[in-house]
Amino acid sequence: MTAILLDGAAIARQVYSQLEQRVAALNNQGVRPGLAAVEVGGNPASLVYIRNKVRACAAAGLHSEVHEFTADCPESVLLAALDKLNRNPLVHGIIVQLPLPRGLEAGRIVQSIAIEKDVDGFGWRNLGALIAGHPLFVPGTPLGVMTMLDHAGIAIEGRNAVVVGRSTVVGKPMALLLIARGATVTVCNSKTVDLGDFTRRADILVVAAGRAGLVTGDMVKPGAVVIDVGINRRADGKLVGDVAFESVRAKASYLTPVPGGVGPMTVAMLIANTVSAAERSIAATRPASATR
Ligand code: NAD
Repeated sequence: MTAILLDGAAIARQVYSQLEQRVAALNNQGVRPGLAAVEVGGNPASLVYIRNKVRACAAAGLHSEVHEFTADCPESVLLAALDKLNRNPLVHGIIVQLPLPRGLEAGRIVQSIAIEKDVDGFGWRNLGALIAGHPLFVPGTPLGVMTMLDHAGIAIEGRNAVVVGRSTVVGKPMALLLIARGATVTVCNSKTVDLGDFTRRADILVVAAGRAGLVTGDMVKPGAVVIDVGINRRADGKLVGDVAFESVRAKASYLTPVPGGVGPMTVAMLIANTVSAAERSIAATRPASATR
């Protein structure tokens, strides 16, 4: 078997084209969706990610602004900046690019983003609401994975799903979304004994560990759907995922490439969340009579 590659860039283009009408409808009501990104410390990888998001905003007709701070910036300054953005009506979504420099407590800083502007969905209120099945915003990477699965018509209900990685931004929300759709979900982590024993049971295998080549073909059930979330830069500068591409491609039914798989979907979901935030902001300010 040779896996069909799930082309995240192509699916993301469809997402953007579906957003066009929604952005136009907002423009007709005098609203341009706006995203503010907060970057601290000038981490080169973070700057690349932010540049991609700014470009995506421009291409989709969104306003974007980047607020940069030095690594020694006191937490109080960041919190004051976020407070100002929370109250800025031109900004509908706010993200804090992670990781933050040592000494800054990401949890506390991310929690200060207003829930209705938390378009990364990393705030505890959004994550908690995800457990209950009613989040305002779902983190872009797991949401992008679900969108890719649906786009390919891959059945989720009743299937064995294994998620490798239990981070708050990828693994845990991924598991919750799969559970919500009726999959039987196992979550593995760095302490899991005999990872292959679990991954071989997966009909749907999502790998988000940040370890190049962690999952090899012999760890994959024939015909499984394999989603490679990992992004690792090799010594030669090449970007690779967590999955040994060739050996897994020979076993799986579907596989996401790196780059060009989950990455473009993550950004597309962020833009979609920002458009939703702008739509909600209008609904929230509309007089009661206008909703009748
Ligand atoms: P993280 O470091 O916060 O979490 C990694 C998780 O993997 C941890 O729960 C850890 O226990 C688990 N893990 C590590 N080694 C393991 C092993 N040998 N066996 C089983 N589990 C193991 O990372 P993260 O933020 O969740 O990101 C994971 C990967 O996904 C990284 O490569 C990151 O760059 C990438 N990522 C990609 C996108 C995208 O858009 N494609 C978005 C976010 C993260």
